[in-house]
Amino acid sequence: LFVLLGLLGALAGVGSHWLLARSSSPSIELRRALQAGEFIPYFQPLVRSGTQQWIGAEVLMRWQHPREGLVRPDLFIPLAESSGLIVPMTRELMRQTAELLAPVADRLGGGFHVGINIAAAHCRSRELVEDCRNFLQAFEPGQVVLSLELTERELLEPDAFTDQLFADLHEMGVKIALDDFGTGHSSLSYLHKLKVDYLKIDQSFVAMIGKDALSLHILDSVIDLCAKLQLEVIAEGVEDELQLRYLGDRRVDYLQGYLFGRPLPAAEFLACALDEPAA
Ligand code: C2E
Ligand code: CA
Ligand code: CA
Ligand code: CA
Repeated sequence: LFVLLGLLGALAGVGSHWLLARSSSPSIELRRALQAGEFIPYFQPLVRSGTQQWIGAEVLMRWQHPREGLVRPDLFIPLAESSGLIVPMTRELMRQTAELLAPVADRLGGGFHVGINIAAAHCRSRELVEDCRNFLQAFEPGQVVLSLELTERELLEPDAFTDQLFADLHEMGVKIALDDFGTGHSSLSYLHKLKVDYLKIDQSFVAMIGKDALSLHILDSVIDLCAKLQLEVIAEGVEDELQLRYLGDRRVDYLQGYLFGRPLPAAEFLACALDEPAA
């Protein structure tokens, strides 16, 4: 049976941790882990391109398994999405994030950007509005800007329901970012309909800096497109000085990547963000 499951997984192109691949009911294992509080947030800094000042963070989920240690999200998020557990898992991640950031939020500099990855299924539920409201209620007005990252890979069909949902989210001050931009196939009218606020240029484009001229041409076209759309741009996967200079010269507003900081557990992230020596 395990061989068959593994084969099915391989055919579906879904990689998963052996814990899940060998479990007779992987979604029960995820549910157990959720109840045990094993899904925790890591924080990766988001910097302004000129000053490199930390102006926010993306929240990245990790599975802190009692025996296996830290499990990467690509090994369990696909299963969390297909089983529908991603919605309560994201809700729990937002709850933990608010609990960790709220006590120090007045020292984060105001308008601190908090990016949360949201699965398409979550955008099919009114609960998303409630989840965002609960998150924002943990803070004083203006302390944080909540930004929902929707991936371009998993195309969300805009309709009357999502129109109303995003209108309500915008009304609350929540921003929408289109993640992995350039890897999907969204049209201009699509971006307009979704009322996207930020575009996150996928790291595969940033990795083209320093490579061949044709690749650079593709990256430049993506940056030009962002400028024409008058959207704020975040480049992800910035790893070296050459990429930093290239993107800065082209007025990419915000940057994220190992050059500035890797995803960190809350205590380490906050120690740096608040510029205090680590405990
Ligand atoms: P993503 O949303 O595109 O997140 C960025 C990924 O790039 C993260 O991987 C991050 O650690 C990695 N990264 C950041 N800077 C660099 C860099 O300079 N170089 C390289 N090579 N990589 C960099 P991570 O944390 O393993 O997350 C992988 C993916 O899992 C995320 O991609 C996102 O799609 C998904 N994910 C993570 N957390 C959540 C979550 O809470 N909910 C949902 N629905 N998906 C999540
Ligand atoms: Ca993201
Ligand atoms: Ca991304
Ligand atoms: Ca990605």
